[in-house]
Amino acid sequence: MKNTLLKLRTVLTIFMMVVSVLVCGQDKKLPNVVILATGGTIAGAGASSTGSAYTSGQVKIEAMIDAVPNIRSLANLRGEQLANVGSQDMSVKVWLDLAKRINELLATKDVDGIVITHGTDTQEETAYFLNLVVKSDKPVVLTGSMRPSTALSADGPLNMYNAVAIAASPKAKGYGVMVLMNDDIHSAHDVKKMITTPVHTFESPLEGLLGTCIFGEVEFFHKPFGKHTVDSEFSVDGVKELPRVDIVYTCADVSGDLIDIMVKAGAKGIVVAGVGDGNMNAGTLEAVKRATKAGVPVVRASRVPVGAVLIKGEINDEEYGTVSSADLNPQKARILLMLSLLKKDRSREDLQNLYIEY
Ligand code: GLU
Repeated sequence: MKNTLLKLRTVLTIFMMVVSVLVCGQDKKLPNVVILATGGTIAGAGASSTGSAYTSGQVKIEAMIDAVPNIRSLANLRGEQLANVGSQDMSVKVWLDLAKRINELLATKDVDGIVITHGTDTQEETAYFLNLVVKSDKPVVLTGSMRPSTALSADGPLNMYNAVAIAASPKAKGYGVMVLMNDDIHSAHDVKKMITTPVHTFESPLEGLLGTCIFGEVEFFHKPFGKHTVDSEFSVDGVKELPRVDIVYTCADVSGDLIDIMVKAGAKGIVVAGVGDGNMNAGTLEAVKRATKAGVPVVRASRVPVGAVLIKGEINDEEYGTVSSADLNPQKARILLMLSLLKKDRSREDLQNLYIEY
């Protein structure tokens, strides 16, 4: 009799667990991760599995999740389609939508982490933007792929599996916004697209990898550099657009006219992708001086892919009114300037300190 009762109780417990999973659609023991999809090659499709031609942003998020074996054993997953574009078409509007949605989701007890699927062309920009405006220490992980979903040895499914494993891991709290590609975990601050098409495109050449995730096993090596997320002073609350900031690419004998044209066209800030240590020729320097005198801040970054721009180098920043981007590349220096300009009347020194801190 006692045995029959015990068996009955076990059967009832299992029945209740199955019912609760079916009713709530969730396993209470698993973390809850939301995947925000924006498109990119990871959602791309081509006519041939061995051809290089394809179109980004073709596959919807639910189909992408279903294509990854065992991914639902890592977390309770839910997908939201925020955009479906190649990341060359990423926009400030999508950045703001993403940031606001992430802040909303992470403020609830029901969401433990976020994954964002995104094209790789501008992934480092979206990651750095979010690193400055997400107000949570829960993990936010961007991922993508270099090969479309229809390609032989597509890299998207394993990247997505690993990104979900990181977002679901309690170990990943406090690392700011991360990028997962090809088993490597990068900090949003450091990651750079370094090579046009191979799967090992992302590197963190100056500061090194944050960690690795191999078939879902997460390991961290060091904390990220710079202020981010909960320690960042930047916020998108009530923000509908960002000030226009342009980037000018320099080379031998480049004309300073480009800078005058940007100011005339309404740029509120300019980033110069300078040569070497953020250097530029005499004509460009004169145009930069005109811009800063007119109240348009100019940040000196470098067209060289790796290395910091020195504050005291060949250019006297005080004389030209310029600011060094420190170790941010031109595209990330632009994002910091856009967010900084949301507050009026920042001094040159104030701006320089932001580049040192963030
Ligand atoms: N143009 C594509 C994108 O950025 C290519 C790169 C990719 O997704 O891997 O969306």
